[in-house]
Amino acid sequence: MSIQIPRGTQDILPGTVEKWQLIEETAKEVCRKYLYEEIRTPIFEHTELFLRGVGDTTDIVQKEMYTFEDRGERSLTLRPEGTASVVRSFTENKMYGNANQPVKLYYIGPMFRYERPQKGRYRQFVQFGVEALGSMDPAIDAEVISLAMQIYKQLGLKKLKLVINSLGDNSSRAAHRTALINHFQPSIHEFCSDCQNRLEKNPLRILDCKKDRDHELMKTAPSILDYLNEESSLYFEKVKQYLSLMNIDFIVDPTLVRGLDYYNHTAFEIMSEAEGFGAITTLCGGGRYNGLVQEMGGPETPGIGFAFSVERLISALEAEGIEITQEQQIDCYVIALGEKAKDYSVTLLQSLRQAGFSAERDYLNRKMKAQFKAAERLNAKHVIILGEDELAAGKVAVKNLQSGDQVELPLENFINEYTTLSN
Ligand code: AMP
Repeated sequence: MSIQIPRGTQDILPGTVEKWQLIEETAKEVCRKYLYEEIRTPIFEHTELFLRGVGDTTDIVQKEMYTFEDRGERSLTLRPEGTASVVRSFTENKMYGNANQPVKLYYIGPMFRYERPQKGRYRQFVQFGVEALGSMDPAIDAEVISLAMQIYKQLGLKKLKLVINSLGDNSSRAAHRTALINHFQPSIHEFCSDCQNRLEKNPLRILDCKKDRDHELMKTAPSILDYLNEESSLYFEKVKQYLSLMNIDFIVDPTLVRGLDYYNHTAFEIMSEAEGFGAITTLCGGGRYNGLVQEMGGPETPGIGFAFSVERLISALEAEGIEITQEQQIDCYVIALGEKAKDYSVTLLQSLRQAGFSAERDYLNRKMKAQFKAAERLNAKHVIILGEDELAAGKVAVKNLQSGDQVELPLENFINEYTTLSN
């Protein structure tokens, strides 16, 4: 039996990979404008990093990590997300001492989670994300959100919904936590076993439960917004004001909590409202994590970031009927007839490519007609025909495949002549 691709992964084949490239280029271009610089961290890290950085009460850590022991008996894990690694690197490389502050970084690369595969949920997926470390200015929260929105806008997405919330600072969170425990405790036996575990460890995450989402107590649960202290409240007001100043529409949803433990203050998600996008509507998730750098052994440093997967972005583009890649075209296809002409085509092809033209030739010894067909399939602008007689006379025929016009060009100075013709 032939070996098949592992469950929850996919091959990105030529024809589709162009979409990925365009998305990556767009994201990078927007990052350049916002002055976020690329960081590349390892695909695997010490397991401990994610226990601390993602939080050992989260689904990711409890159920979804690809963890293995290497030959040196170290426990390593394929990264399930990017923030923990970026913060580790920030701390390890003492970037808090960089002259330019805040430190604004982006990453793009594969992440791994052992999840139940379905539309929009893979076991290997590519996340693009940014992290801004070192600023506690609500304008940076708004900037990070606007950066995500700008990438989506530039790719043509329209049916988007930005949802924001504030989880407040530590004291606001603590007050809310007590209120949540008091609210759920009397009826916790009616909830799933995960929620029963969460009650003491991290009651906020009960609000995030997919199984118990329709329980009556979910609707009446105390809202974090009622527990924000004055400072947290003011911070949230500023973030909203800045978003409005940038003409970015949003709605506030006090039930929006993030799955990860280290979030505080601003939390946000961007959803696709396109029909046919599927059951999972979240395109992008992010928020502020002021305690994380310290948790990783660095100095107290505020941070905010987001991540989205290219897979879900592509689904959203498809659901909105947006075609982002253009038809591929090459400059010329060289048809060589006869041995001498074939030899000559090797140098000609090399000169054409070095001069900046995309050029191709036949490698299967096909007849002239089949080579013309190959040129058409590649959508070549010109076909350059090298025949024995023409070569002997120091000339080649160049045919424009769109207009059908054919001209003869001298071999001497051919690249210059061809450049003039194709402009
Ligand atoms: P998270 O790190 O769980 O907050 O997820 C952030 C974003 O990553 C989500 O909004 C999705 O765009 C994407 N994402 C998370 N898990 C998956 C997955 N299993 N497959 C594809 N995309 C994912």
